[in-house]
Amino acid sequence: MSIDSDVLIDWYDETARDLPWRRPGISAWQILISEIMLQQTPVVRVEPVWREWIQRWPVPSAMAAEAPGEVVRAWGKLGYPRRALRLHECARVLAAEHGDEVPGDVEVLLGLPGIGAYTARAVACFAYGQRVPVVDTNVRRVVARAVHGRAEAGNPAARDLAETEALLPARIDRAAVFSAALMELGALVCTARTPDCERCPLPRCAWVAAGRPVTEVVRRTQKYDGTDRQARGRLLDVLRAATGPVERTALDLAWTRDPGQRARALDSLLTDGLIEQTSDGLFALAGEGGG
Ligand code: SF4
Repeated sequence: MSIDSDVLIDWYDETARDLPWRRPGISAWQILISEIMLQQTPVVRVEPVWREWIQRWPVPSAMAAEAPGEVVRAWGKLGYPRRALRLHECARVLAAEHGDEVPGDVEVLLGLPGIGAYTARAVACFAYGQRVPVVDTNVRRVVARAVHGRAEAGNPAARDLAETEALLPARIDRAAVFSAALMELGALVCTARTPDCERCPLPRCAWVAAGRPVTEVVRRTQKYDGTDRQARGRLLDVLRAATGPVERTALDLAWTRDPGQRARALDSLLTDGLIEQTSDGLFALAGEGGG
């Protein structure tokens, strides 16, 4: 079964969320920032930080001029802060080697730090209107259901890109909006746990036609409390709030539950390059240790 692109695009035109990075006049750099932030963080948390960032760093060279730690600080509580560090590296390369512009070619984008298969195509599509398949979890789920009649997408596979590309409308100016619409449908209607088929604009869906066969999926709820991630977050909070390098004891006080876990968290932050240790044994955000 295929997906009726005209119906889907009409639905999107009528109901799409008015998200700031979708508005006219938004640069490829601003779209790139939104895509990196949105990968693991919900829209409602991303939006205020994104607004701050595009004011503060309107072009890649503005971000590249900052110490990486300042970008990690501004990342705030969006989670998975390595994304901030990678974006800073990307800004440096864009400023130094790409004339302070985000390229539109997928292969060139893939060569940039921190830009993976999804982000490269999302930027090519949403910033440059190219006819390229943009495949995220939402898109994979909609395709699995509407086209293949499966309740779940299963693990990502190499064929996902080709399958999604085969669904794109031939007209270039329709392909980008179709991709946005497919993602929106997966995010708002054809959701993982409770697809709202009553509200779905698609006239035909293979999964519904097959009687909604169920797949056994074990959904792992990601626990946060007490994890190494939480410990890392607490240590980073201390350094974000500090105006200069801090003593080890300040970090020790930020996570007293489990000294072994604290040591592991500290090591991993150092290994990831998010923080650094000064020659006199203090700790600071990357680039802020004065070394
Ligand atoms: S009919 Fe239901 S399962 Fe099929 S694509 Fe629409 S929301 Fe998803």
